[in-house]
Amino acid sequence: MSKGAHDSRSEVDEILGEAVRHLEWLRDAGVGDVPLSAVAGRATTNTPRTANTTATPAATTTTMTRTATVTPNPARGSSPYTQADKGCGSPALLAIREEVGECTRCKLAGGRTKLVFGVGSASAELMFVGEGPGADEDLQGEPFVGKAGQLLTKMIVAMGFQREEVYIANVVKCRPPGNRDPEGDEIAACERFLKSQIAAVNPRVLVALGRFAVQTLLRDTTPISRQRGRWRTYEGVRLMPTFHPAYLLRNPAEKKNAWEDLQQVMKELGKPPPAK
Ligand code: SF4
Repeated sequence: MSKGAHDSRSEVDEILGEAVRHLEWLRDAGVGDVPLSAVAGRATTNTPRTANTTATPAATTTTMTRTATVTPNPARGSSPYTQADKGCGSPALLAIREEVGECTRCKLAGGRTKLVFGVGSASAELMFVGEGPGADEDLQGEPFVGKAGQLLTKMIVAMGFQREEVYIANVVKCRPPGNRDPEGDEIAACERFLKSQIAAVNPRVLVALGRFAVQTLLRDTTPISRQRGRWRTYEGVRLMPTFHPAYLLRNPAEKKNAWEDLQQVMKELGKPPPAK
């Protein structure tokens, strides 16, 4: 076999292997009530959801154990949730929302007004992961709707997307009291839902906003100021760490760096560079 043919064969094997691993992960994540044919078709059509071959980022790969363990809700027939609910726009996402239910798995349940599951397109190629709901999000039941959310929306639009085209979710789904940082036991109780959401959406690129999103997904406690702007990999998905919009509101001088990070994401997704 020629070297070129051998390389092509290796590439195909790698893609097929990744597709199989993704299907297994979906099954393990408990979103197997999606018709398998639909999932398989999605894996096939999503094959282009790999690194832009024209981009040459200095990627650092992190190998993660696939630990998401959402199980189908046996009471699904009487579910109060529908695919029209925020962040539930596919059978897989709806199954995860049903599993979350009116969750009391951690102590944040007692202080919430509304559980904030997620929002956006179920087939988004770009997914943002934040930390947890603030006061506005807690009241409205939607992530990133306060001042930091307005900044995030501006950033999304500047990247050439509409907010509705991307998917947005947080590490914890309920507001920590007084907007304190989420604690380890709360993240441990909640992170499997986020991981299942990522598996269900299957984005081409993840943007991790701030240190809690980065630490949760990459298990890396390096300060975000040293991680931002460097491509990483989460479960085969390209991941760009950058600053949280709330941090940017407090430190506007960092907006320039965050924008540089997002321009790398635009390039990865084939978006035209912003006009000078
Ligand atoms: Fe459940 Fe997550 Fe809310 Fe805790 S933060 S109660 S684990 S949904």
